Amino acid sequence: MSAVRSSAQARGRDGPLLAVQDLHTWFELRQWGFLRVGSVRAVDGVDFELARGEAVAFVGESGCGKSSLARTLLGLHKPTRGEVVFNGTRVADLRGKDMQWYRASVGYVQQDPYGALPPFMDVRRILSEPLIVHGISSRVERERRIRQVLDEVRLSPAETILDKFPHMLSGGQQQRVVIARALVLEPSMIIADEPVSMLDASVRVEILNLLRRIQTERELTLAFITHDLSTVRHFADRIFVMYAGRIVEQAPVDELLAHPQHPYTQSLLAAIADVDAANARQQREVPGGEPPSLLHPPPGCRFHPRCPHAIAGVCEVDDPPQFEPRRGHRSACWLHR
Ligand code: SF4
Repeated sequence: MSAVRSSAQARGRDGPLLAVQDLHTWFELRQWGFLRVGSVRAVDGVDFELARGEAVAFVGESGCGKSSLARTLLGLHKPTRGEVVFNGTRVADLRGKDMQWYRASVGYVQQDPYGALPPFMDVRRILSEPLIVHGISSRVERERRIRQVLDEVRLSPAETILDKFPHMLSGGQQQRVVIARALVLEPSMIIADEPVSMLDASVRVEILNLLRRIQTERELTLAFITHDLSTVRHFADRIFVMYAGRIVEQAPVDELLAHPQHPYTQSLLAAIADVDAANARQQREVPGGEPPSLLHPPPGCRFHPRCPHAIAGVCEVDDPPQFEPRRGHRSACWLHR
């Protein structure tokens, strides 16, 4: 475990590793720096729990709020309302050493590996920095951990990589260094935000397999953020589908891919040319129109302007709650009423 041990860590208990309740992250929008225009509702009422060792995927189009959710979980955005409870402790209450423990416990893998790595540091220094910040003062111990984690992400022998700067590495190697940095403090959870979307197709599968192997071997909780439903089949245990700042459908991965209930999920799956080779679907477009403005979201169901099944007089008026049309499978749609 990390050198940072604290009262928050000591409060660890049985139950979910992460519990998110009624979470809202809104951003004030101002014109000319002072005239308030309104609030962008990036995350707008999200509830879920993640078990220890569970891999989940948050899926949705760009602008659906999934990256804002990730950054709120990391403590980079302050929730407007609601709370994040990690290991039984409210993250909003954490201060000092306790917050340091939280930051060590939740690793972050960014979308753009080159942008995530400081260009003026070599790999040894990039991986040393978090260890120094979190109190690993022994140079020998730091070197041992760095070599161990480089071996884990298959960047070995370490001598070939430790003195290199980010621009000297390929995109795949850069993302492996980002993953190594997320792991070096031995976290219990990793948040990976579109970790392969900026990589060449040839290395995407390698990086996904690497993340899955590390998640399984370390029994990590993994929150994988993606716009691409086709990448999650062999990767996640559960899927949360997000639309306009909310979770509209959630289920175990095989259940959701085989029996999508929400019209939005159905349209996402229809847009994948070959999500299931045994049941190949013809490529179709997601229903016309754009995702709604998060500044002025439509009333009722937020998907209703694009939904081919919208019920007149209902869907544009009333916000659907979460129904459970199949066991363990929830969907926010009036069709399941
Ligand atoms: Fe479509 Fe209505 Fe269901 Fe929304 S609630 S997804 S508009 S049918």
